[in-house]
Amino acid sequence: MAHTLPKTPWALDELEPNYKKSTLEFHYGKHHQAYVNKLNDALQGTGMEDTAIEELMTRVNEISADKKQAVINNGGGHYNHTLFWMIMGPNAGGEAQGELAEQINKDFGSFENFKKEFANAAATQFGSGWAWLTWCPENNKLLVEKSLNQDNCLMNSKRKPLMTIDVWEHAYYLEHQNLRPQWIETFWNLVNWQAVEQNWQNAKAGKAIINLETATV
Ligand code: FE
Repeated sequence: MAHTLPKTPWALDELEPNYKKSTLEFHYGKHHQAYVNKLNDALQGTGMEDTAIEELMTRVNEISADKKQAVINNGGGHYNHTLFWMIMGPNAGGEAQGELAEQINKDFGSFENFKKEFANAAATQFGSGWAWLTWCPENNKLLVEKSLNQDNCLMNSKRKPLMTIDVWEHAYYLEHQNLRPQWIETFWNLVNWQAVEQNWQNAKAGKAIINLETATV
């Protein structure tokens, strides 16, 4: 089955005032849809047309040279945005709770230190890209990292993405113009920590982080 635009776990006006419906109509409705369409085009003839998006991200090196970069760009665009929608929510923000909070304290020293490190990664990603909280199963550690364009850690490592912020200008320019730090500050009001925790539990259990059936409402 061809890839399709997943439903968001909230209505497009529910993230207001932190993220405007009018911005999401472009970001989700136009940009994400374009990645999905171009991914389906790029996958034609690869034999991986029906591979689930998360598995596809771990197998980009199997794609022939003439299609590989298009699958990285558009498959990454589809995967990264899907995770981004999943970890935001209405009435969100605050701090991680429970087991995830304990692990953040262990690996970053404190929640405040984690926030600083994540915000710094997001602010210093040169040009278009993403900042991430990822989990490394080999040593059970949480990490902050950043990636260029639509790359993500599934493409080139064993690490698992748990949360992410989009720092492409299309994510924030309509509301914040060139003020990326203002967008990063606003993003903290949008993080659904329960969803991030669920992603970590799924990763630890060896389950898919993005399950498009459960990501839909
Ligand atoms: Fe985006």
